[in-house]
Amino acid sequence: MTVHVEKFVRPEIMAMNGYVPGEQPKTEKTIKLNTNENPYRASEKVYTAIRHAAELGLSRYPDPIGTTVRVAVAEKFNIDPNSVLCGNGSDDLLTILTRTFVGCGESLRLPYPTYILYQNLAEIQGANNELVPFNTDWTLPKTFFTATPKLRLVFLPNPNSPSGTIIPKSQILEIAEHLPCPLVVDEAYADFAEEHCIDLVEKCDKIIVCRTLSKSYALAGLRFGYLVAAPKWVAQMLKVKDSYNCDTLALAAAAAALNDNNWLAENRTKILATRTRLTEQMRQLGFDVPTSHANFTWNTKKNVALKPIYESLKNHGILVRYMDYPCWGEGLRISVGTDEQINQCLNSIEKFL
Ligand SMILES: *Cc1c(COP(=O)(O)O)cnc(C)c1O
Repeated sequence: MTVHVEKFVRPEIMAMNGYVPGEQPKTEKTIKLNTNENPYRASEKVYTAIRHAAELGLSRYPDPIGTTVRVAVAEKFNIDPNSVLCGNGSDDLLTILTRTFVGCGESLRLPYPTYILYQNLAEIQGANNELVPFNTDWTLPKTFFTATPKLRLVFLPNPNSPSGTIIPKSQILEIAEHLPCPLVVDEAYADFAEEHCIDLVEKCDKIIVCRTLSKSYALAGLRFGYLVAAPKWVAQMLKVKDSYNCDTLALAAAAAALNDNNWLAENRTKILATRTRLTEQMRQLGFDVPTSHANFTWNTKKNVALKPIYESLKNHGILVRYMDYPCWGEGLRISVGTDEQINQCLNSIEKFL
């Protein structure tokens, strides 16, 4: 007897498409510029910390709240450790946030185009997505600020993906003050920008800031993120998270990474120099490239189909992200790789054109 999937799987799940992450090719040779990973090796202090933690043994459960990392984050930003929540990657934190704040039939607001995962999180809750399109210059319209009756949470990646553009800190505060609900500023790329909003959390309790070690710390394979929020929110989110959402090795590695400020500064300098070159050269090739505050650029070109460029690059072993957003348009998102990788990518694009 066959059991029908529709009979047991919740209708909200049946209706979903599911989030499709960027391709992860099996070959080492691919030049991978499609998921905004950092092309450099993480701080050696991270690898030492992992080896040390492993030697101490893994038979015990990890600290459920990751005290050592909470303290490291608190010291870094001069904040209360009780305002820090650790996550198994920031995707885990986004899940915890959505589950904590957004119930069935309620609404989650997000700008458009942006990180696609947010929509899936609302769908799993049986909640509605309120998509507010960016203006064509990637600023936000006033409708992003306005209260609606069912609105429970707002996600704003800053810098945004795929554009790499940033909403100024002063405006973030203004948005939060107008909103009736918490505003999650997803700062996955903030280490590549000039300003961030962590200190706004103490000024306005509606602001929650989310961070990841995946991009600026070159640790996408580790799975670690943290958020900073008023302790009253963190206390509720602790009830929602998995008991041991961060493992012993990840906690040891994260503390080591967060304490190595020199590594972060040096890596940032390299990435920013390459980003400038990538931006200038793509503009010279006739692409429209908004000034990026992240570790990738968003490249569009009037009257030229971009899918063939993506495909040609792929045939040459260079993977970038091709995006075609309904009602917005297409573009190529290119992660900042090493200088060598970016040279190869630029050469291939120039030849194609
Ligand atoms: C990469 C990314 C994340 C996910 O980070 P992980 O810590 O790897 O889960 C979250 N938000 C945005 C906007 C991202 O680009």
